[in-house]
Amino acid sequence: MADIILIGAPVDSGKRRPGCLMGPDAYRTAGLPRALRDLGHRVEDMGNLTPATHGPDTAGERLFALNETIGWTHRLVRAGHEAAARGIPVFLGGDHSLSIGSVAGVARHAAEIGRPQFVLWLDAHSDFHTPETTESGNLHGTPVAYVTGQPGFAGFPDRVAPIAQENVCMIGLRSVDAAERKLLEATAIHRHDMREIDETGIGRPLTAFLDRVRAANGCLHVSLDVDFLDPGIAPAVGTTVPGGATMREGHLVMEMLHDSGLVTSMDLVELNPFLDERGRTAQVMVDLCASALGRRVFDRPTRAYA
Ligand code: MG
Ligand code: MG
Repeated sequence: MADIILIGAPVDSGKRRPGCLMGPDAYRTAGLPRALRDLGHRVEDMGNLTPATHGPDTAGERLFALNETIGWTHRLVRAGHEAAARGIPVFLGGDHSLSIGSVAGVARHAAEIGRPQFVLWLDAHSDFHTPETTESGNLHGTPVAYVTGQPGFAGFPDRVAPIAQENVCMIGLRSVDAAERKLLEATAIHRHDMREIDETGIGRPLTAFLDRVRAANGCLHVSLDVDFLDPGIAPAVGTTVPGGATMREGHLVMEMLHDSGLVTSMDLVELNPFLDERGRTAQVMVDLCASALGRRVFDRPTRAYA
């Protein structure tokens, strides 16, 4: 049994297409708190946060909603830092720019207790742009660069506990642009694209990563982007990329994470309920989160949503 702290982070400032602000309530509606309580966990729901006071954003700037994202980052660093000391924070997004703050916050706690922070990035994208390199101006493509200490984040909170590049593992990659690829290739970040998963299976890179986390007595943050999954099973995301993880691969990853006993915090990001089909993507994400926190797929009755 664990203390799980749900943190609603209706962040919608990381890209232009609105809708992710509805995410936290969609997860609640799809039964996440109950599913976790049914597993025997103590669940606290902090409700939906709001960004810290921030400067105004002007339409037409190269970076979309920069100041609002900075406001969210301040708020989420505080929330993540505080919650990580009490249990397992689960951030209910919100777009992926929330991970700028969630990861930085939990990493601050890990540094205080003298353990290295590791991050598993389950995503079609590497999210390694900086505010200077992004062509879209969408800050949801920047969290990994921020948390690993890349330059170019003027105005954001100082990084008191940057994550070592070799402690980051990306699985599910299939949409990385040329500039980002070049930056990534100069790093020690572990990257596993869908071709590798097709060739070797998803369990192999994950096992190797979890072995490293365990050997280092690390804290492990899991950041699950809806677009890690194939759009056929998870259509409610603004950045669908064909060829994603299957339901079986998704649950295998989550069950292996649970078996490892290493997960100390988690993000569920990029769900856009406005694009969903009768809540099915929200339900898939709730099921995956429950798997990561102890549910076995075959322990539950069959559900029909078709
Ligand atoms: Mg992402
Ligand atoms: Mg993505």
